Parts: sequence; C-alpha cells; structure tokens
Amino acid sequence: MKAAIFYGPNQPLKIEDVPKPTAGLGEIIVKVSACGVCHTDLHYIDSGVPTFKKPPMILGHEASGIVDEIGEGVTQFKGGERVLLPAVLSCGHCKFCRTGRENICDNMVMFGNNIDGSYAEYVKAPAKDTFLLPKEIPLEEGAIIADAITTPYHAVINRGNVKPGDKVVVFGCGGVGLNVVQIASTIGAYCIAVDILDQKLEYAKTLGAAEVLNPTKLDRIDKEVRKLTNGGADIAFEVIGNPHTMELAFACLRTGGKLVVMGYSDKNMNLNLGRTMYREMGIVGSLGCRPVDYPRVIELARVGKIKVKELVTRKFPLEGINTAFDLLRKGEGIRSVVLP
Ligand code: NAD
Repeated sequence: MKAAIFYGPNQPLKIEDVPKPTAGLGEIIVKVSACGVCHTDLHYIDSGVPTFKKPPMILGHEASGIVDEIGEGVTQFKGGERVLLPAVLSCGHCKFCRTGRENICDNMVMFGNNIDGSYAEYVKAPAKDTFLLPKEIPLEEGAIIADAITTPYHAVINRGNVKPGDKVVVFGCGGVGLNVVQIASTIGAYCIAVDILDQKLEYAKTLGAAEVLNPTKLDRIDKEVRKLTNGGADIAFEVIGNPHTMELAFACLRTGGKLVVMGYSDKNMNLNLGRTMYREMGIVGSLGCRPVDYPRVIELARVGKIKVKELVTRKFPLEGINTAFDLLRKGEGIRSVVLP
C-alpha cells in the first residue's frame, strides 16, 4: 500500500510502498478515506518532539474510512461499513479507564505516535475502539471529528465545565481552537476569539464568536477582555501551545476563573501563585476525548448542531501531504485533509 513515511524531524514525509497491515485478534483493517492534518504532527516534524514509535513510521490520527478486513473475534463490524477511528486508544483496565477517564489511560496508544497512523491507504485498528459513522456525515470531512472536534468537546464540556451564559475567551483559532469557539458558542457561552490572523478571526465569527481580537493590533488583550466581559472571562482556553499566550489567557480571567490548557508546549509558564491562591483561580489540562463522548459528538454532527463540512477548507491526495503541512505552518485555511 501507499503511505507517507516519517523518517524523523526536519525532513518532508516520503511517499513509499509498504506492506498492507493484516488484522489480528479483535482488529479490523480500515481503508482510509480521509485523515485530518493536525498541528500535533508538526511538533514531531518541525520541533523534534519524539514519537513513541521510532521512525520510520506513519503519522496521522484523525481518520475515517471503510472497513476492509475483519480479524478473528470481531462481530460488531462488517466489511464495507463507514467508520471513524478515535485519535487515541485506551487499555480498558487501568485505574483511569476503570473510573471513566480513558483519555488519560496509563497505557494510552495514539495513532501516528505509538503505532502507525492513517497517512496511508490502510490502517489497522482495534474494533472495540472504532465508531460507526452515520451516512449523514460525509466520510471525507467526517475524519476531523476524531480530534479537531472531540478534543474541544471534552475541553469545553468536561474540563472547562462551560455553562450557558458563561463568558469564554479562546486563544488560538486553528483547527482545534475554532471548534472550542464553535462548541462553547453552541451551548450558549459568550465567546471571545483571539488570533493573530484576521482570516482565522473571520472563521471564528462564522462559528459563533461574539467578539474577535487580534493581539497584533491591540496593546493589552487582557484589558480588552476585561472590558468586554465586565471584569474578566469565566473560562480561558489556550489552544496554541505557547507559554506567553498561556500567561496572557490566565491574565484575562476574573476572580475564581479557570484556564484550560489545550496547546502543547514543553516549556514552563510563569504563574502568580498569590493571585492563584487568593482569588481561587483554576488551571486544568485537557487531553483528547473520552470514548463515551464520541457518540455524542457524532450525533451533534449528524443533526447539524455542530458544523463539520465547513471546517475542511482543503483536500489533498496523499502525495500532497507536505503541501498540506506548509499551509498549516502558514496558518492558511481551517483544516486540511489528505485523501489516501
Ligand atoms: P493550528 O496551527 O491550526 O492553530 C494554531 C492557531 O494559533 C493559529 O490559528 C495561529 O494563527 C494561532 N496563533 C499562533 N500564535 C498566536 C499568538 N501569539 N496569539 C494568538 N494566536 C496565535 O493548530 P491546531 O491543530 O489547532 O493545534 C493547536 C494546539 O493544540 C497545538 O499545540 C496542538 O498540538 C494542540 N492539540 C492539543 C490536543 C489536546 O488533546 N489537548 C489535541 C490536538 C492538538
């Protein structure tokens, strides 16, 4: 089969012929219809964040496809069914899985990190973790549900605990941040979107942002947010992965507010502990999404409460994957998918 192979940082992926995977016990082989192009891959390619599986390997963790082969013991799927693969697989037996927190599973396995992912014609997946994709959701665009939409759902609903009427500020309106804006706005929050690119802010408005702010045009974003929210946001989301914007997002909060860290950085942020203690500030991380929430997100997409089709702004053949990464580096469009 054809696959885009990652050989290590600071080099483009290479399209090569590799053996097609075969399904073992409890596994299925999925013919990949589409795989979303996420900034997490750029951390491996550009910033040298190591993958758990040593390269050469196949990246890609946002995939939809058609069941192609069924392994022994799989009874819940038939060949030809449309499916969505979660970005992360959980073991089902560690203390986190047993208490409903599978997204922080002790033995977590991520496609395109611990195991081969979906920038390829076929991918192997455990049947127990795979979801059926209803016919109302197109396969090509539906791929991005598995991270770009489920991750924001978990962050907004479970970690931010956003309620209707809350005032929310979202730093970073890329593929993930725009869906924080979309989901928070859909459930009735007043949402301020922040990005350095005006095009991203235009997208944010179409997805429900009440206000948009560009830090390159304002001296003090935190002051502006305080003014707009009459004292500070209830919940701030950082969806960039930059300690500076994490500090800025924290500075936008009211007393008793909460920062939800979604962006990835290996650097430290500065935090005023006095303010954190005296004003009962909260800081939480948010990683991926629990399997139990996937059917909810799929249903929201099926009935059109969450926009999906509109979020895929470019489609590339597998051979165009490095161009898709270039667009992501430049911040163009919302989400690209490759169609292996
Ligand atoms: P992206 O590149 O599509 O979006 C990043 C956005 O941030 C861009 O729109 C960019 O213009 C904006 N930005 C950059 N610097 C800024 C600044 N100083 N101020 C304001 N805006 C700025 O990336 P993405 O795919 O949306 O991913 C965003 C982050 O989330 C990455 O760090 C990624 O690794 C992380 N991520 C986390 C999870 C999770 O489970 N927590 C899942 C997926 C991705």
